[in-house]
Amino acid sequence: MAISPKARPYLLVLILVLVAAGIVVAQLPGEEPNATRSTPDASTTPPVVDAVGGDGAGDAYYPQDGNTGYDVSGYDVSVTYDPATRQLDGVAKITATATADLTRFNLDLYTLVVEGVDVRGQQAEHRQEGDHELVITPASPLVTGEQFTTTVRYGGEPTVFQDRALGRSGWQVSSSGGAFAAGEPHSATTWFPANDTPRDKASFTLTARVPEGWSVISNGVEDGSTTEDGWTSFRWVAEQPMATYLTTIAIDKWTVERSTLPDGTPVVDAYAPGAQDGRRHQERLPEVLAFLAEKFGPYPFESAGGIFLADDIGFSLETQTRPIYAGWADLDTVVHENAHQWFGDSVSLENWADICLNECFASYAQWLWDEAKEGVDLDDRYRAQVERARDSFWGRKLYDMGRGNEFKGVYDKGQLALHALRHRIGDDVFDRAVKEWTTANRGGNASWPEFEAHVERASGQDLDAFFDAWFRGDDIPDDEHLYPGSLRR
Ligand SMILES: [Zn+2]
Repeated sequence: MAISPKARPYLLVLILVLVAAGIVVAQLPGEEPNATRSTPDASTTPPVVDAVGGDGAGDAYYPQDGNTGYDVSGYDVSVTYDPATRQLDGVAKITATATADLTRFNLDLYTLVVEGVDVRGQQAEHRQEGDHELVITPASPLVTGEQFTTTVRYGGEPTVFQDRALGRSGWQVSSSGGAFAAGEPHSATTWFPANDTPRDKASFTLTARVPEGWSVISNGVEDGSTTEDGWTSFRWVAEQPMATYLTTIAIDKWTVERSTLPDGTPVVDAYAPGAQDGRRHQERLPEVLAFLAEKFGPYPFESAGGIFLADDIGFSLETQTRPIYAGWADLDTVVHENAHQWFGDSVSLENWADICLNECFASYAQWLWDEAKEGVDLDDRYRAQVERARDSFWGRKLYDMGRGNEFKGVYDKGQLALHALRHRIGDDVFDRAVKEWTTANRGGNASWPEFEAHVERASGQDLDAFFDAWFRGDDIPDDEHLYPGSLRR
């Protein structure tokens, strides 16, 4: 995700307040720094009781997101959407494997109304409760290891999530009258039922039916369209595992441009009416992806592209294979969102506390691009930013920063931290460690503590003090860590 330049001053105010609060806390007598290398508290994880699936996957920040008791392998979602009425009707077929015996399990769906649920083709009882829980009781219990399909029929007018820090996310109506879904950490459940945790990645197929004249862009590979009785159906297939927040649907009167990368990977770019400016950045996509592959290893997906909105929404997002761009997006944003295809999409975080694995790397990719393509001396930039930042972002932690703070330090302090790490272990080790990381965790999930351990192995060094100073701490690192290796003040 890249945040709108307009939203940044607002975030800065929040950050300054938090920094001020942090200083007060730091001055309390008797406070001892936490010496243990902690992971976020997961004690809020609801236990699986008897044969009932849990109603939260146990993230320390968003404990109710996702569910337990099963593992989804694929979503096959069909929706009909009419921009004139804003009404959505959907049928979601969800294939999963039970990881426990289950008399009952949950999916997540936000505000839309469920009309019926089948499990294994048999009618199942269902009820909707709380913010987003869809509780399903199959006609007979599921057995550990059993693969089963759940079909949910649902509909209504999709509603956006309002987040105080990040604004609107999930389903949004665009200025053209079309609609799109994007947002982090939540988005998918505003338009289809899901196990809404990045830990449960799955393939995703979308069939979307819209009135003739509108068209639909989504993740993955195009699989044709058909028109009948004034309605056109578009089908998209994304076979590689995807976290639910990286799914997207975008309905508009798109100008679609199709091409291929030099290795034959299909590229689909879509421009909303009024978003043609994006083309001058997006035409460099092959160069961007080739550059990122040089730095991070082979491009991890079977397709690529971009979705360019005319609307100046608060963020651009790395929706898998096909990032969605706000009207203000520039070449930097294209580099950032495509770097996420490695960091965030292919290798997904385990907990939201690990967000630096996504954002620090996507933001540092912008530095690497500037270094290679613009001849920027990153050491000079680093020193200048450290000087300028003397009083600003040091109070923000890059690991386990607390719910609501995920996006506050990762874009700027994160760049400095990775540049310092590169100097601490040297260019060669840094390059090798990064490529080994994306290869070893390709298509899966990983945590920040695992990354620290990986870099320590790759470098053969004990880096605890460095990681504490830069990623776990909320104070200016000592000069030893601020100017490591050849980075002299
Ligand atoms: Zn990002």
